[in-house]
Amino acid sequence: MEDGENGSAAERAIRRVEEDRDFVVELARELVRIPSVNPKFEVGEEINREADVQRVVAEQLEAAGMAVESYDVFPGRPNVYGHHEGSDERSLIINGHVDVVPVGDLSAWSVDPFGAEAREGKIFGRGSYDMKAGVAAAIAAARALHDCGVELEGRFEIHSAVDEEAGGFGTRDLVQRGRHASAAIIAEPTEGEIMTAEGGLEWVRVTIRGRNAHSGWRYRDIYPQPLGPERDNAGVNAAELAAGFIEAVGRLERDWGRRKPAHPLLPLGINTINPGVVRVGSGLDEEGLPAVMTNPAITPDVAVVDFDLKFLPTETSESVRKEFEEFVHHWAMQDTWLREHPPSVRWNLADLYFPPFDTPADHPLVELIKRQRAAQGKQANLTGFPAVCDGAHYAGEGITPVIHGPSGAGLHGADEWVEADSIVDAAKAYVAAAAGYCGTR
Ligand SMILES: [Zn+2]
Repeated sequence: MEDGENGSAAERAIRRVEEDRDFVVELARELVRIPSVNPKFEVGEEINREADVQRVVAEQLEAAGMAVESYDVFPGRPNVYGHHEGSDERSLIINGHVDVVPVGDLSAWSVDPFGAEAREGKIFGRGSYDMKAGVAAAIAAARALHDCGVELEGRFEIHSAVDEEAGGFGTRDLVQRGRHASAAIIAEPTEGEIMTAEGGLEWVRVTIRGRNAHSGWRYRDIYPQPLGPERDNAGVNAAELAAGFIEAVGRLERDWGRRKPAHPLLPLGINTINPGVVRVGSGLDEEGLPAVMTNPAITPDVAVVDFDLKFLPTETSESVRKEFEEFVHHWAMQDTWLREHPPSVRWNLADLYFPPFDTPADHPLVELIKRQRAAQGKQANLTGFPAVCDGAHYAGEGITPVIHGPSGAGLHGADEWVEADSIVDAAKAYVAAAAGYCGTR
């Protein structure tokens, strides 16, 4: 994968990142100063400025000699795709997202969330750590390679995506448009570690049906009544069925967490099943939700429970879906009413799906990043990512992802910050990875 000349080209570009360190730090600050809150969380013309961030990204990639395309994923919310032509076999993507989560409680911040204040080697602000620093580092890597005249043999791409924080529809759009490569680095913050494993995520909806009745006659739903219509037409409370179901899912969750073989790079029990949204009422509307949710005098006949179901990197979506559906079936079989009125299970809720990944520890990208960190006297450990990120969408297309990026704190919280030096380090790692993985001509 490398020869002497290859190494020296990479080394020149890595030195260039160091000489040019103000560029990457100031670029990260410039990006933080443009509020780009994902409009799915909070709407406001002055804060939903992903497009303005993307304009800066596109200009910088063009200045770094890349061919750049930009197109809307949602109206006014463009992705930016920059690339250098090259071979498929050694093609590499560096991915970052430009949307950020809302500021939250402003009184908890000690700095202006969009001020990009620089102090004590840190840059403060919403999106500094997650993940405009990573985007800036990817751009700085492309720029250093360009400045040093390094010609890569494999295709080198930078994907700057919108909408990561709300399902990853920006990156999904890039892969659906065929922007593929053999591997991808996700420039999310990792404290300089290399994250090679991530669980999968599904959203699943379980709809449980009961039978409407008037609460005035609830006594006969509960206590034995004489044989006859009073007994036959008793209400069946869907809220209570759902409560029992949620409890049963909790037991399944603990069983999965304790008994399924743990992944060596991930905390035990990350395969959780979170009951996140519960809706109960009467009648089913066209969207599959309870039509009436305002009258507690009705014994409800519809309960809709939405779960966020996480599975292990070593599992597949198909096997987990099957297991969950069998669980629902067996739960229902224990109850006379439910046996005749089985709950329905719906996957692909809101079109959300994150495939898992488990990149081998000896993948060339891992080796290249490790070696670059070691050259600076730093160690890059392998870890797993307990949540999900855009790497999933590449993995789903057979593109091997690793996550590697800067250091900081305050993810989605107040006083978010990123360490300036760590942005420079990330840019160097990206240069080493691009030169080593893509190879030089
Ligand atoms: Zn992020």
